[in-house]
Amino acid sequence: MHQVLEFLSAYYPRYLCPPCLAKLMTEQEPAVRAALTATAGLEFATAYCMNCEASTQAVRFKHRSMVCVVCEKVVIPPIENWMRINEGLYHSRCWDRIQARVGRDMKQA
Ligand SMILES: [Zn+2]
Ligand SMILES: [Zn+2]
Repeated sequence: MHQVLEFLSAYYPRYLCPPCLAKLMTEQEPAVRAALTATAGLEFATAYCMNCEASTQAVRFKHRSMVCVVCEKVVIPPIENWMRINEGLYHSRCWDRIQARVGRDMKQA
């Protein structure tokens, strides 16, 4: 269930507790908990869940794991601002910039 990461990235920087996450994803809680332990790029802490507002063991997207290949700056959701190409993460504007540069190099050659 790798969409757990994308799901949490949409809520960054807020935390969700696993029961609320399961409810929002309309998945079974044990399956969501298993996915959480198997997924890299998440941050666990005692925090306020954005959904039930309880202070509890909660999880959020760990933005330090998401760095743009071009500018090496953090890629922050929403997902419209970035893309994943060949396993690399790119800001949309960084991707456009390298595409423009490739186009220029081809004209010079
Ligand atoms: Zn909650
Ligand atoms: Zn970038």
